Amino acid sequence: MADPTLADDPPARRLLVAGNWKMNGSLADARRWALSAAQAARHAQAEVVLFPPYPWLLEVAGLLAGSPARMGAQACHAEPHGAFTGGVSAAMLADAGCAYVLCGHSERRLGGGETDQVVCESMRRAWEAGLEPVLCVGETASQRKAGATEEVLGRQLAAALDALPGRPAPLTLAYEPVWAIGTGVVATPDTAQQAHAFLRAQVAARDPQRAGRVRILYGGSVKPDKMEGLLAMPDVDGFLVGGASLDPAAFAALARARRQAHPRGSCP
Ligand code: PEP
Repeated sequence: MADPTLADDPPARRLLVAGNWKMNGSLADARRWALSAAQAARHAQAEVVLFPPYPWLLEVAGLLAGSPARMGAQACHAEPHGAFTGGVSAAMLADAGCAYVLCGHSERRLGGGETDQVVCESMRRAWEAGLEPVLCVGETASQRKAGATEEVLGRQLAAALDALPGRPAPLTLAYEPVWAIGTGVVATPDTAQQAHAFLRAQVAARDPQRAGRVRILYGGSVKPDKMEGLLAMPDVDGFLVGGASLDPAAFAALARARRQAHPRGSCP
């Protein structure tokens, strides 16, 4: 029997709940968090994905083996190989067991000087290596205040869509307003929905089929108590979680995300 809590409008994009550990935790923490997430994934409707720091990838891959949880990396180099000391290529990440890679996280755009061009090149490398890029886009507080949110999102997204190869290439988007990352301030469901709908419309203008399929995650101080309101929004397809992914109980609660019945679905 169909689950009445699952909305059939909009289309059935499977929710995705991703934990970005950033530069946190010891190897012992990584083992604990991975085992907890693997357990949570067994009972989840959502797809669960972990983004550990590079040194823990092989260990986490082993711990997730046999569980439905999957793994990604927090970034990949814009070049495929070569004399780039400290760099990690997309092909290396695929060999280590990654299925996803974050591209254009604001901490790398703003703190690491990653331009749209570099983000595009890293996405190209990800596709070549068979990884699914999770493209992060988002405006700063001052850009929002200046009314430039859509201009910023549009530019960041267009640069990446320009890089899409001719053949089918998987892509997930993450709307991560910079003012919400690590600040404890969560975008309201309406604010998130507005941005997600804008992003989906931008994709639709180029490829209506992809627009219906592409998952758009929300990221920015997400905690379990905020998830229900956000999931009631038709264009929110899951979460990219930073701080709360370091708390196994909170992350397990987020992994229990279920799509809420959309209000339109309950109209007589
Ligand atoms: C992030 O950096 O991707 C993120 C969403 O962090 P936080 O949840 O801590 O705001």
